[in-house]
Amino acid sequence: MELNDLWKTALAEIELNISRAAFLTWFKDTSAIEMDGHRVSVSVPNGFVKEWLENKYNKFVLRAVRNINSQVKEVSYVIGTKQLATQKNDTKYGLPTIARVSVKPANDISFSSEFELKDLNINPETSLNPKYTFDSFIVGSFNELAHAAAKSIVIKPGIYNPLFLYGGVGLGKTHLIQAIGNEIIKQNPKAKVKYVSSEKFMGEIVEALKNQEMNQLKEKYRAYDFLIMDDIQFIARTEKMQEEFFHTFNALYEKNKQIIISSDRPPAAIATLEARLKSRFEGGMIADIGEPDYETKLTILKIKMEKTGIVIPEDILDYIARTIKNNIRELEGALNRIVLTAKMNNCVPELEYVKKIISQIIYAPRKFVTPKKVIKTVADFYELSEKEILNKSRKKEVVKPRQIAMYLLREELKCSFPFIGEKIGKKDHTTAIHAYKKILSNIKSNLDLEEEIKIIKEKMYTS
Ligand code: ADP
Ligand code: MG
Repeated sequence: MELNDLWKTALAEIELNISRAAFLTWFKDTSAIEMDGHRVSVSVPNGFVKEWLENKYNKFVLRAVRNINSQVKEVSYVIGTKQLATQKNDTKYGLPTIARVSVKPANDISFSSEFELKDLNINPETSLNPKYTFDSFIVGSFNELAHAAAKSIVIKPGIYNPLFLYGGVGLGKTHLIQAIGNEIIKQNPKAKVKYVSSEKFMGEIVEALKNQEMNQLKEKYRAYDFLIMDDIQFIARTEKMQEEFFHTFNALYEKNKQIIISSDRPPAAIATLEARLKSRFEGGMIADIGEPDYETKLTILKIKMEKTGIVIPEDILDYIARTIKNNIRELEGALNRIVLTAKMNNCVPELEYVKKIISQIIYAPRKFVTPKKVIKTVADFYELSEKEILNKSRKKEVVKPRQIAMYLLREELKCSFPFIGEKIGKKDHTTAIHAYKKILSNIKSNLDLEEEIKIIKEKMYTS
């Protein structure tokens, strides 16, 4: 197969597995330029893309390429300006024109229709989705601090700057930070509000660099009164992006403009976040969104159910609230499916049928997590390779993650200490026991550590 075809086929596979936005940002304008023994060189438009592909997507790219040609052992990325110039008018090098295949399961009707609606409603200027309002945000003890902080920003912008909200997947971060933006606009239609995910922000930077429009981009961001940046944890992966964000942040901060940030974890737990950004974030207000308890989940379900006009019996609601653990998006998903089924059949499904529906939504039961998965999740979280966790290196930054991996193998998978010692670093069981006990006692006194382990567990069981 020709090199060009190899890369196109690999791109087609990559495209199926990541979001459209990520694909366009990181893989547009790439091409394979050379195959040298076991190595394929890929031309990329600039240093940002190079750094990002190397750090975040390399394994994934390599796997896609190796699926097509198993001879390949390495993919390297080169910044290629020449390539770029010839690409402009040459569709041959452009993106593969494959039809976009949905990666969602075919039975997932509720999601697809919701997504289409969503895109139409998003305000092109602010990027806010009008459906995320304070009115539709249900408050319970798990999120009341975050909610109160968000409200106070609306009443008195600048009172906390930045406002940094963090919490697990599907717990309402995006909803809440967008609610701030929507409410601000409602009260003051002239306010310049911008919502952006950190991935989108990085994409804009890449694009601006390519077109030499960095100054315009800077100006654009510095003109906002309210900047809402979602999922900041992604930005920590590259230094240059942090740098750009830092400057934007400072420019706004100095002008007393409000900055609102969300993340899946507190600043202190983002391993690669630069110290100066960390301390900036910690200078504002940090609020977490915790996990809803059973009662709250039931309340959320009831309120959301009322809006659908369908009455679902208590035993079904109870089942959903008990089965779906800590994810409001999944609660909604379950409810939507049941409502949809009820509408199609003109009657609410039986509990037995509901159980089947739900089992498709919730994550695999605990027994399916393997030691390899534990190690991979810990490695990913701390931005290390699996090898670094497994080998004997005494480097400071791997000691803690390694102990956490040992702790989780014991605590979650009930592995024996000799097994754990052998698996990680070829040590004997006393090392494993020591690591386990150490983490166990540290969790009690260290809230950040507890938080980190909670996130790792969640990722381990859900991804
Ligand atoms: P996150 O950004 O934390 O992953 P989202 O904000 O996207 O989560 O929330 C997931 C879904 O759950 C959204 O549809 C959102 O409207 C809904 N949701 C989350 N929290 C609440 C809440 N407190 N009240 C009502 N709906 C909520
Ligand atoms: Mg979100």
